[in-house]
Amino acid sequence: MSKTLQAIRGMNDVLPEQSPLWRYFEHKVAGVLDSYGYQQIRMPVVEFTELFRRSIGEVTDIVEKEMYTFDDRNGDSLTLRPEGTASCVRAVMEHGLINNGLVQKLWYTGPMFRHERPQKGRYRQFHQVGVEVFNLPGPDIDAELILMTWRLWHALGIADSVTLELNSLGTSESRAAYRAALVDYLSGHFEQLDEDSQRRLSSNPLRVLDSKDATTQAILVAAPRLEDYLDEDSRSHFAGVRARLDAAGVPYVLNNRLVRGLDYYSKTVFEWTTDKLGAQGTVCGGGRYDALVEQMGGKPTTGVGFAMGVERLLLMLETLEKVPAELQQQVDVYFCAFGEKAELAAVHWAERIRDAIPSLRLQVNAGGGSFKSQFKKADRSTAAYALILGEDELNNHSIGLKPLRNDTEQQTLALDDLTGYLDALFATATRSHA
Ligand code: ATP
Ligand code: MG
Repeated sequence: MSKTLQAIRGMNDVLPEQSPLWRYFEHKVAGVLDSYGYQQIRMPVVEFTELFRRSIGEVTDIVEKEMYTFDDRNGDSLTLRPEGTASCVRAVMEHGLINNGLVQKLWYTGPMFRHERPQKGRYRQFHQVGVEVFNLPGPDIDAELILMTWRLWHALGIADSVTLELNSLGTSESRAAYRAALVDYLSGHFEQLDEDSQRRLSSNPLRVLDSKDATTQAILVAAPRLEDYLDEDSRSHFAGVRARLDAAGVPYVLNNRLVRGLDYYSKTVFEWTTDKLGAQGTVCGGGRYDALVEQMGGKPTTGVGFAMGVERLLLMLETLEKVPAELQQQVDVYFCAFGEKAELAAVHWAERIRDAIPSLRLQVNAGGGSFKSQFKKADRSTAAYALILGEDELNNHSIGLKPLRNDTEQQTLALDDLTGYLDALFATATRSHA
């Protein structure tokens, strides 16, 4: 196939057989977020480039090398959003949603774009579910965000396979003091640092803590520790977060090297990681960003949030075999009709069934066909039952109902009883396609 007719590398189609799992996941997420009183916001996928430069930070991986940036026809520089926090902050500022200390608890979902090397769990168009909370400065809300994700992992059946890593970056003042001490220490070992870390030492020294390089890691063992530089406010905030997680019984590990890739974090940062996905092991990351709104030109407004990677979580569900079996079934009833008269009657009765049971997934055979061919299609459709309408049934004002997934005998129902019977039959069936 010619290259122009292929999808762009790292940008995936979600094919029909995969979309039930996406819908299942989105349904679970929305359920949990609703239950904590969060409201959904939907932002555009394109913003002025300047927004991301200013919020995410010039010397981050994202802004330095991962953004899809292009000139609009009028010369404006635009960027496909690499993450959602910047857009969300822009939106709440622009619409006055955080004026005068107004609290907002928001969530969003959608595609994000980063020009990275595509591999398992890492794509150029990927999807996140993100949550952002404004004007709640206390540790209680940091803990609530983590509890919410913990509840979601339980709902998905993956809580046993994820680990919560927690750290505090402190206020910008305490971080500045730490940064100075870290730079001082690392400068003494400059020659041994890996190339990225040498570069970061002047631009973004905290990111050196993130280095995967073995020699750099060894040097870091004796480096000054961030927690020793935390001021009282950051310390008590962090203790408050931990006390709440302890109270709720959420296990975590403290990781004082956890800094996260974005510039805007302060105080609490956290990541949920797994060892089930190989190198792409972070499924959710977040933290507090109390200075971001002001940095973007707004009034001082605290913020805290997280984003989870949908593809990585779906990979986890597949790897751990936590995909519910019923997702395989996408049709409840397949309606077979034989002969022109029966086909017309099938149109009538299918619509009556839909009137009576809107949630029933009813597929009507299209394109006619022999008994054998229609049954083959019924079977392939994944339906639990086939309805059978032919000349004989019509003459008797009846219809056949045949179970397709077990040995139970076919039944004959009076047409007038059809909707009532199906309603009773499927009322108790729990269907997850809502
Ligand atoms: P990583 O360290 O894996 O590059 P990150 O720190 O860049 O992740 P964040 O910006 O915190 O990621 O985004 C939150 C979540 O979004 C990540 O934890 C991950 O699950 C997901 N994610 C980030 N980048 C990608 C990508 N290119 N493809 C798929 N998922 C991604
Ligand atoms: Mg990244």
